[in-house]
Amino acid sequence: MKVISTIGAVLTVVAAIAAPASAQSTLNVVTTTEDLAAIAREIGGDRITVESIARGYQDPHFVEAKPSFILKLQKADLLIAVGRELEVGWLPALVQQSRNSKIQPGAEGYLDASARVRILDIPTGQITRAMGDVHPQGNPHYWLDPENGKVIARSIADKLSQLRPNDRAGFDQRANDFAARLTEAQKRWMAQIAPYKGTKVVTYHRSFSNFADRFGLDVIGYVEPRPGIPPTPKHTLDLMTEMKRQNVKLVLVEPYFDLKTPNAIGRDTAATVVVMPPSVGGVKEASDYIKLFDYDLNLLVGALRKAGAPTR
Ligand SMILES: [Zn+2]
Repeated sequence: MKVISTIGAVLTVVAAIAAPASAQSTLNVVTTTEDLAAIAREIGGDRITVESIARGYQDPHFVEAKPSFILKLQKADLLIAVGRELEVGWLPALVQQSRNSKIQPGAEGYLDASARVRILDIPTGQITRAMGDVHPQGNPHYWLDPENGKVIARSIADKLSQLRPNDRAGFDQRANDFAARLTEAQKRWMAQIAPYKGTKVVTYHRSFSNFADRFGLDVIGYVEPRPGIPPTPKHTLDLMTEMKRQNVKLVLVEPYFDLKTPNAIGRDTAATVVVMPPSVGGVKEASDYIKLFDYDLNLLVGALRKAGAPTR
């Protein structure tokens, strides 16, 4: 009995020491993608630690679940997801298996980053997952518009402030600073792409809807017949015919897709195939949110210049 009571006393002391320390400790944030991790890092600074589950060079729709992801989620105070069913194929099972009540959907430590952003490609008819379309709730690649990036940053600042009210002023200031830096960078990007406004392009997956909308590209078709459905010979033939009719000279491909079909399309239509990362971490130069746009716009403008795209 003596030993047990001593252990009890020791545990009480340990708990008493640990409690105030943990109230001040950094928040453990897990995000599904590197884009969200990059934005969370801008807002949280040294008040949080951030880890992403998916890597920027992976297809975020299809991430192989690993036991190490469950361990990350077990320790998380906050989980930030892209939402709009982007992660529906792999995240729910991981969150459930983590048994971490803090980060279950609807709990205080779960943030769906899509809540306040502008969503494109909302289906008008009835779309079910049985049709294989992986965008049944509109386009989940919304982070590729810097205006949406500002909204995501604001949502994260609000959520971090809710979890750490004492740090609210700092989070607010960092969100405002990030938005100001984005606005400055946007001026540069818009000037860079302005001569190519209205350029017609084809993309592999429907990843660049928000990007094209913001930067004035006209996406006239996709290598995939539907989002998530691999190319078919019939669709590829139709696409090549349409590309020739509209004189499309650029095919944008996300880094995780097979280049066989895009290259065949490029040969047949004399279009340039460009591998363009849609996420932070997709290439090493795209190491944060602003650098992702820097990289993609440089790549795009370089390719358009080489392809001799008509300028206005
Ligand atoms: Zn998608």
